Amino acid sequence: MKKITILGSTGSIGTSALQVIDQFQDKFKVSALAAGSNADLLIDQVRKYEPELVGINDVGSYDRLRSEFPSLKIVAGDEGMREVASYPETDFILSSIVGAAGLLPTIEAVKTGKTVGLANKESMVMAGDHVNSIARSSGSMIIPVDSEHSAIFQCLNGQDHRSVRKLILTASGGPFFGRTKDEMKDVTVKEALDHPNWSMGRKITIDSATLMNKGLEVIEAHFLFGAGPENIKVLIHQQSIVHSLVEFIDSSIIAQLSRPDMCGPIAYAMSYPDRLPDVVGSCALDEIGNLSFSEPDGDIFPCLGLAYRALKDGGSMPVVLNAANEVAVSSFLDEKIGFNEIPVFIEKVMNKHNIAHEPGLDDIIEYDKWARLTAEEIIGS
Ligand code: MG
Repeated sequence: MKKITILGSTGSIGTSALQVIDQFQDKFKVSALAAGSNADLLIDQVRKYEPELVGINDVGSYDRLRSEFPSLKIVAGDEGMREVASYPETDFILSSIVGAAGLLPTIEAVKTGKTVGLANKESMVMAGDHVNSIARSSGSMIIPVDSEHSAIFQCLNGQDHRSVRKLILTASGGPFFGRTKDEMKDVTVKEALDHPNWSMGRKITIDSATLMNKGLEVIEAHFLFGAGPENIKVLIHQQSIVHSLVEFIDSSIIAQLSRPDMCGPIAYAMSYPDRLPDVVGSCALDEIGNLSFSEPDGDIFPCLGLAYRALKDGGSMPVVLNAANEVAVSSFLDEKIGFNEIPVFIEKVMNKHNIAHEPGLDDIIEYDKWARLTAEEIIGS
């Protein structure tokens, strides 16, 4: 029985992971759960899965949880998140908190030396060198849960890394693929949230529509697999069946295909190196018929280019890119700015930033704060 900790249990990835656990109750047991602020759902989860430790980031919800479960160990706030992340009575930690808030809990998880399923791409984007070096010293194995990186991880299984020429990340293109810039000027929040293939949280769905999600994934791939920006390519693949590909030096390409369902990569990470049966329905290629691939249009989707620039600039720039994006996306969700303005504001913040090379973890937290304040100032003015 593998004991599982879930950081971000009430989010989209967390609830999918619990579905996988429901399906394989003979293999997995929940040992600890942590959520941001959705106390109602967390209470339901605690009743059903009976974890030994529970954390909620929103300290205002602590008393409610305490009165529901008087004898359970409950922690709250940022400190509480880190305590759940480092809970020793577990075998596998799923890091699925959304956004920069996932950074410190992910680092605590990696410090334990246990296997970490990484769905929080921001921790790699912001502090990839730190996360990798902590994993090297603790012996923690990081298994990507992001579908593209899970695909690459699977394609690289058993291969000599020196024989890799290129990583090819696929992007669905989001709900606005094929539109002109002008046609996207007035898109509503509802339209942007209506992703054609994947069911995901709000922030990542908007990132998917701007292609910033793919940009962050390029940076994530760099830190997970050690490839330079010139060796990471993005292709639009609207069917979301081929989750990513690896091209080798002999020009052979290996790809991973499946139906678009996050339970697949989550189950793979939780059971690695084994595979679990029938997590996702089989992928009938004859019914799908055609698989298409094309180059993304950098003029229509400038966020992708901004992410490549941040990766090439290096140092603290990816931190700034990520933070400015989070502020711009939440301003769009609050209907304060238009869809096409998201990259404009991000670029303004990047242009104001003096890059620090090899920033320490404390510096990273400071640059994250700086970029958020700067983005809020520019958007507010
Ligand atoms: Mg992804």
